[in-house]
Amino acid sequence: MSTGVNWPFRSAPGSPVIERAAGNYLIEPGGRQILDAAGGAIVANVGHGRERVARAIYEASKDTTYVVPPWVTPGRARMVESLERDWLPAHLSRIHVTSGGSEAVESALKLAVMYHAASGRPEKHKILSRTISYHGTTIVAATVSGHPARKAGIAHALHENPKAQTPYPLRCPLGRHHPDAGQYYLDDLRALIEAEGPETIAAFIAEPVSGASGCAITPPDDYWPGVARLCREHDILLINDEVMTGFGRCGRPFGHQLWGIEPDILIGGKGLAGGYAPLGLVATSEAIGQAIEAAGYQVMFHTFGAHPAACAAAAEVLDIMVEEDLITAAERQGEALQSALSERLGQHPHVAEVRGAGLLRGIEVVADRDTLEPFPLEAGVTNCIVQEALDRDVFVYGGGTGEVRDMVLLGPAFTVSDGEIDQIAEALEGAIDATIAAVA
Ligand code: PLP
Repeated sequence: MSTGVNWPFRSAPGSPVIERAAGNYLIEPGGRQILDAAGGAIVANVGHGRERVARAIYEASKDTTYVVPPWVTPGRARMVESLERDWLPAHLSRIHVTSGGSEAVESALKLAVMYHAASGRPEKHKILSRTISYHGTTIVAATVSGHPARKAGIAHALHENPKAQTPYPLRCPLGRHHPDAGQYYLDDLRALIEAEGPETIAAFIAEPVSGASGCAITPPDDYWPGVARLCREHDILLINDEVMTGFGRCGRPFGHQLWGIEPDILIGGKGLAGGYAPLGLVATSEAIGQAIEAAGYQVMFHTFGAHPAACAAAAEVLDIMVEEDLITAAERQGEALQSALSERLGQHPHVAEVRGAGLLRGIEVVADRDTLEPFPLEAGVTNCIVQEALDRDVFVYGGGTGEVRDMVLLGPAFTVSDGEIDQIAEALEGAIDATIAAVA
């Protein structure tokens, strides 16, 4: 079998070749089973190999191969019905469907700028975002991302936007997990808004819990309610990028619900179709939809946005999550994963923190646990841990931004068992020990 070396996605020598995936495992031609502790790229929320989803894709492809996005197909109708009934907060009544997360981010930012223009405030067009973040790979999504490693070679061509500090309780300048950390980061955001001029700002975009850029950095509890207040006070739209945290990943339908806030725009992707098909989602408030509609602005579709087969897959995946109560499972197994990791790694001399929410968990590795000094970038600690874990038949997702490093992200399917959780924790302990031994 060819190893599929296609520029620019050039497989590193020795990359796994996956012939089949079933349940929580990726299976190589020789039969080796790799436990998928990252759900691919934190995507496979309901696990691999669900026949009813494959069947739904087959039926949709047969019956409604391609239909322009604004028209209705059975799969689209079922998906929207399910989103409205079981998933989206009631105030987010307008839905725009893309074919991935970056496209959804671009669309959300366009909608935010359009909304203010439609409301007679075209000067409100700046987008604020955060220093440690990832919002996608297209030019504007990359611009608003706080991810130096993923901007290498293009950073000089981007018009950087204003960024507030990402709340990072472990490394808060006031002290590790300082009780005033939330207020510290809110003050930072307020200062940025005042420096830029609130009359120039359209929106603030952020992930409720950090994705791969910060590996599940979770803000203090007063942070998100404070952000929502600041945005409301200054007529700045709050955009929650939930491409990674959405659709049950954090033990709630959406991550922002951990803090009871109401974003004006919600972005989803990844878990929406559980990896069975590519999809992205932008849901906005009725007020935003009405203003843009009244102004007659066109919200252009992507040719493959809301593809009929992808929507049919999503409808099936969303039903599975409800029928099997998988959001509750994500919350429960997330706690179990945190406990298993803490038990093995909580006192490890090179583990600074095990953190996260639901089944989005991150582990940060440092040279010195007391000072939080990281290993040198050249040591390549993250890649080494990922490889060592893979050698132990467990796939974990390497994270960090280069500046912020050595961390891995875990995001297994919500069906992950207690035994599989033990396997993940054991493999990670071995992988970290082997990496430290190699680096030392
Ligand atoms: N936003 C967040 C929070 C993400 O984690 C990602 C991808 O990892 C994206 C946006 C971009 O999504 P995609 O890779 O589907 O374009």
